[in-house]
Amino acid sequence: MPHLPPNQSAQIPAPRSPSAPPPAAPEPVRLDAAVIGAGFGGMYALHRLRDRLGLTAHAFEAGDGVGGTWYWNRYPGARCDAESVFYSYSFDEDLQQEWVWSERYAAQPEILSYAEHVADRLDLRRSITFGTRVSSAHYDEDRCLWLLATDTGRRVEARYLVTALGCLSAAQAPGIDGLDGFLGEVHHTAHWPHEGVDLSGKRVAVIGTGSSGIQAVPEIANLAEHLTVFQRTPHYTVPARNRPLTEEEFDDVRDRYPELREEARDTAVGLLLDPPPGNAADLTETERTAELERRWHRGGLGFISAFGDLLMDETSNTIAADYVRERIRETVRDPRTAELLTPADYPIATKRICLDTGYYEAFNRENVSLVSVRDTPIERITPTGVRVDGTDHEFDVIVFATGFDAMTGAYTRMDLRGRDGRRIDEEWRAGPRAYLGVAVSGFPNLFTVTGPGSPSVLTNMMASIEQHVDWITDYIDHLERSGVAAAEAEEEAQDSWVAHVAEVASHTLYSRAGSWYMGANVEGKPRVFMPYAGGLNLYRQQCDRIASQGYPGFTHTAKRSRGNPSRKHLRPAR
Ligand code: NAP
Repeated sequence: MPHLPPNQSAQIPAPRSPSAPPPAAPEPVRLDAAVIGAGFGGMYALHRLRDRLGLTAHAFEAGDGVGGTWYWNRYPGARCDAESVFYSYSFDEDLQQEWVWSERYAAQPEILSYAEHVADRLDLRRSITFGTRVSSAHYDEDRCLWLLATDTGRRVEARYLVTALGCLSAAQAPGIDGLDGFLGEVHHTAHWPHEGVDLSGKRVAVIGTGSSGIQAVPEIANLAEHLTVFQRTPHYTVPARNRPLTEEEFDDVRDRYPELREEARDTAVGLLLDPPPGNAADLTETERTAELERRWHRGGLGFISAFGDLLMDETSNTIAADYVRERIRETVRDPRTAELLTPADYPIATKRICLDTGYYEAFNRENVSLVSVRDTPIERITPTGVRVDGTDHEFDVIVFATGFDAMTGAYTRMDLRGRDGRRIDEEWRAGPRAYLGVAVSGFPNLFTVTGPGSPSVLTNMMASIEQHVDWITDYIDHLERSGVAAAEAEEEAQDSWVAHVAEVASHTLYSRAGSWYMGANVEGKPRVFMPYAGGLNLYRQQCDRIASQGYPGFTHTAKRSRGNPSRKHLRPAR
């Protein structure tokens, strides 16, 4: 199983042979700021820290190239579901003017090319160590330094640690008995081989029907001799209606880029979607159907803003969900398959809504079949396939599209320790706790790009990344100018932010689904709604207010004039 996600044990270095002399520990490299990750968050953080603030900054990246999500997720059909013209950086007008997007929704190779273009243009690669995973980061309180160790044996000291680990980067595959004995190929969508996988004429299993599975199924169906989809929970998916962008369309966006970006920044999702005409109850039945119809035919994420209260009011939500259910029954010819594909017991969009291209249609093909594993989970993987309910299904290739330990997995899989040896996995045992989703009490000078408790995954990630990185680096600039050695979120401020995140979520329907937003897809993970549902615009206002007031909620430790930092706390006025 060469391409399954690494687990924790994969990060433990292989034991040395007893005869080999112990390798000399290399001297730690000293940095102002270490960045972990060279996806879009890490690249922008590195640029700001190094080129705007003039700090010695360096990034460490497990992959052999930039791009993060788009470096790893190379499965057939991988495509972004935020429109390409907005799924890009806005901080550099020349950059956004020079890059040309070819489609309404960009496919993985185009987004990866864009990331590579940005890395070249900003000359980022010289400050990134690739193929290197940070295995531990421990805070040394006496010296106010982060001490990092990598799986390649490097040691690094940094005053600031900026984590850009990605919200959906800790891929996971369920531990199903017998997997090791499978004689065919096994792949995970999030660790797809760079050389591709030859699926033509093969018998292929796809396990999992979230966004990754839903994108991969129609593409794999075109290649495989037979495709069997193993579905536990049917997801709601809306047509993407992807298409090439015309030159006129693109030129129009380019001409108005600054104003469109400004407008997008001031929305809850960091994207320009058609605003809802009102709450469902404000509209007549005919108006509601017309609105859903219009959005369904336009395609895209705008479907879920058909009604202002779609994510808050059960009746409103049911109207939209029923509309999708009807489309499934209308599209899928076999009534039993249609019924299995129809989500029944959770509100639409409370599991991340999916965008597809021909997903339901794929089940009308002769070479595609659906197996529900909802009531009868996969029993085991046999040497030749998958056993469910006593029936053996034979395969050449098994594809896990089983998702991620979202939002926290990339943190808890790393040995991350703050003051007094406080471990992040312990601190977050009952759910993630972070002030503004950007800083963690007990972990001074650690800044988490799109961390839990920030809007992140409920928004256009690029808009959230830019907002977070701007705020974090402005704050670091402030700390540098103020002679502060260490900044730490106060427990009390963190508690009230965590309570606020929960309170906002309680006004929504999100808790009604067993989603990865809630940690429900990982055994033993606490059920806590992790992102901030108050909207990127409102969140930005709160962050800006905190900055303008001198960063209340943080405790500052002053630098000593010479040598070690003073214990005296510089507490900013509230
Ligand atoms: P996901 O949404 O978590 O879906 C995982 C799927 O695997 C679910 O259908 C889940 O069923 C199933 N599963 C897990 N364990 C299973 C088991 N033991 N047996 C059978 N089925 C099992 O993961 P994803 O599809 O990779 O997507 C994750 C997120 O990444 C998305 O929600 C989205 O935010 C992002 N993403 C975005 C795009 C895009 O931009 N278009 C594309 C891909 C991913 P249950 O539902 O029952 O748990």
